[in-house]
Amino acid sequence: MTTANATASTASDPGRPVNLIGLPRAGLEEFFAGLGERPFRAVQVMKWLHHRGADDFASMTDLSRVLRAKLEEMAVVAMPEVMAENISTDGTRKWLMRLDDGQRIEVVFIPEKDRGTLCISSQVGCALDCSFCATGKQGFNRNLTTAEIVGQVRQASRRLQGVVTGRDRAITNIVLMGMGEPLLNFDAVLPAIDILLDDLGYGISKRRLTLSTAGVAPAILRLAEVTDVALAISLHAPDDALRDQLVPINRRYPIAELLDAVRTYLGKIGDWRSVTIEYTLMDGVNDSLEQAEALANLLADLRERSKINLIPFNPFPGSGYRRPTEARVRAFQTHLLERGFATMLRTTRGEDIDAACGQLAGNFEDRTRRRERYIARLKDHGVITHQAV
Ligand code: SAH
Repeated sequence: MTTANATASTASDPGRPVNLIGLPRAGLEEFFAGLGERPFRAVQVMKWLHHRGADDFASMTDLSRVLRAKLEEMAVVAMPEVMAENISTDGTRKWLMRLDDGQRIEVVFIPEKDRGTLCISSQVGCALDCSFCATGKQGFNRNLTTAEIVGQVRQASRRLQGVVTGRDRAITNIVLMGMGEPLLNFDAVLPAIDILLDDLGYGISKRRLTLSTAGVAPAILRLAEVTDVALAISLHAPDDALRDQLVPINRRYPIAELLDAVRTYLGKIGDWRSVTIEYTLMDGVNDSLEQAEALANLLADLRERSKINLIPFNPFPGSGYRRPTEARVRAFQTHLLERGFATMLRTTRGEDIDAACGQLAGNFEDRTRRRERYIARLKDHGVITHQAV
């Protein structure tokens, strides 16, 4: 499927140069076949692009001069440009990256003792409007292309060269948890996953590449057909009434349907692997012990196959929510642990540079006018004055 998509996007735009960063191995092989070249050209070029970070064809010295000239004409190597880099006191890095059309997205690198996680975006903005997420408040602009998704990793790898991480590669894990809903940009995300997993690309293990979704149930079923990367579900509520409020897409795909899709996915990826359940804790909203109990009951049959990831809410202006006290967060976690669930507390990273979950705002033109409505709401509540906008 990824090949077909990659080829379609190559073939549908005959006049425009192809960005080779966005072609998975099979797509690149087809591209070279179209030029009358042998498939191993794809191997050579992928190494140049993703391992050695070559930005021009002239430097690809194991290709013939004629082929290099042809590529010069038909193809490009382009990736998002870094506009700003912020480094947190805890070592977390956030980059504001600019796309070809001037839209801006954010990418975050989180170093830990045993790993380095890169959090990448799949869309410019997000259409889902989860009530507690800064990205959603900004509205939605467009899907990212495969090249723009892979380009974030390529650019981050370059930026991390020379940064001491204590490991031979800085990025060991990738999470599709930045801006956007990856399953609503399926056709671009899938080939990107292909390239990130490929040894000729970034060689990330499928267990260390996580796709996080707000719960597009039919797309989870589709995903199960074509890949087996790690899956995270943004659940955030133990019942439909509350989840309808927090994650509006729940009105379309309610919890029962979502968990059925998760069971199907688990059935495909192998008995020993589990799904991550993300649960953002908001004070007085979804953090009571009754709700912890309801969550344990809801997930009872998935106990051996799930890890619950508790995320204390990360505030942003005008969100209307508060982070619970540490005692409340601990009590919620303890309850789930006592019910036998592997339950982790996600420590907040990069807070001083607004790089934490749900704080990525980027900078783009909203096509849904959601940003205007949000700003109007902020004014109503006196959070901002006219001058501040
Ligand atoms: N659209 C995808 C991926 C992006 S969000 C999804 O919904 O899963 C990545 C995670 O951050 C999600 O679990 C999301 O619910 C959570 N999140 C969003 N806003 C947050 C906030 N303000 N504080 C804490 N977590 C938040």
